[in-house]
Amino acid sequence: MDLQRWLSRGVAAIEDWQESFAPFERDPSLRVSDEQIASVFEDFTQRLRENYPFFHPSYAGQMLKPPHPAAVVGYLTAMLVNPNNHALDGGPATARMEKEVVAQLAGMFGLATHLGHLTTSGTIANLEALYVARELHPGSGVAYSEEAHYTHGRMCGVLGVEGIPVGVDAAGRLDLAALDDLLATGRIGTVVATAGTTGLGVIDPVHEVLAIARRHRVRVHVDAAYGGFYTLLAGGEGRAALDEAPWRAISGCDSVVVDPHKHGLQPYGCGAVLFRDPGAGRFYRHDSPYTYFTSDELHLGEISLECSRAGAAAAALWLTFQLLPPTPGGLGQVLAACRRAALDTAELIDASGRLVLFQPPELDIVCYFPVTSPPSLSAIDDASGRMLAGGMADRADPVFLSTLQVPASGFARRHAGIAADRDGARILRSVLMKPEAESHAAGLHARLERLAAG
Ligand SMILES: *Cc1c(COP(=O)(O)O)cnc(C)c1O
Repeated sequence: MDLQRWLSRGVAAIEDWQESFAPFERDPSLRVSDEQIASVFEDFTQRLRENYPFFHPSYAGQMLKPPHPAAVVGYLTAMLVNPNNHALDGGPATARMEKEVVAQLAGMFGLATHLGHLTTSGTIANLEALYVARELHPGSGVAYSEEAHYTHGRMCGVLGVEGIPVGVDAAGRLDLAALDDLLATGRIGTVVATAGTTGLGVIDPVHEVLAIARRHRVRVHVDAAYGGFYTLLAGGEGRAALDEAPWRAISGCDSVVVDPHKHGLQPYGCGAVLFRDPGAGRFYRHDSPYTYFTSDELHLGEISLECSRAGAAAAALWLTFQLLPPTPGGLGQVLAACRRAALDTAELIDASGRLVLFQPPELDIVCYFPVTSPPSLSAIDDASGRMLAGGMADRADPVFLSTLQVPASGFARRHAGIAADRDGARILRSVLMKPEAESHAAGLHARLERLAAG
């Protein structure tokens, strides 16, 4: 699709709608001439060049990429109206779109019933899930793995509940025996399972966590902010297929969070929280004398902790899902390419004499480190830092990676014989979340080899 063409169609459609109302004069205080904007626009666009090229296959670093053009057209067109999805009074059209996309997300996870909404981010979505969890299990703690996103600990602090990290197994998954022991103490009301950790991209065994939690009458929340859309590959065919068990179990858990602004092709901020029991809505009850006046229908603000939210975010996701629906044949194809890119890259690294795979990728995050002599954590940390800086400094053919700080214990469990001369080391981490990474896997690997050679 031609971005400029559909952007102008969007602008024209909104102008056409505006012209259906009586004409009026814009206030002179708002007037900006083309000459005025021209005088600052050059500086503005020049300043934006100070960015890493998230769109390009040479950017193989953090969890970042631009939105799909359909999301851009959806967002900007709706933004010209600027609806507020807090209430049907603020954005009836986009509030309906939000309900539709949330139902599509619920369908993707196989939820038979749901109550949910979009949020500004995964952090806020998780906060909402933990807030409802606290209301249902007052005075009890929340357990999550040591590899869970850092915001779970922070949000437990915000909510005034005890957050307890649980150890992980040799692959970085929540340790089930340790979880069972912790739940037996009776201190825990809710367990968070992560379906796709942010660091290594590891999937906690949600099905086994669920079984243990139910035995102890404990609630289960799934943080699938990063990994959630990978459920589209569960039980599929081909190399990219994923083991079904943890993904199918999500439909039996109490709540789940997924970030369309990560793998759903959306701009920031677009997260989502879904509760299996629509009764969770009662914990949001509040009086708002200034809203909810246009209809008795449920307003999204009545089931959300945030007040104002961009209706444009819902519009962007709605338009994207019309074209690339959250199905195995739609968005699933995008994710399959990302996963194959990770598998290919891992194979090449495995066969390399200069690089070592930290552990096999489960989704699209590949972590690796350079071979050093001597093999020690300090040497690996230095060499990883040099590869990161060297890749970005190469003007002719730059490559952008990211690093992951790994504790000495994490190394000891996976790579014996590396001297632990400090308490951890940085390794390299590439989130291959653009489908183009598949056709660039060999090229990226060749660049990594050259960087490792120094
Ligand atoms: C990114 C991420 C979050 C936080 O989401 P934001 O949208 O960045 O606030 C939470 N959990 C996991 C597993 C994540 O990957």
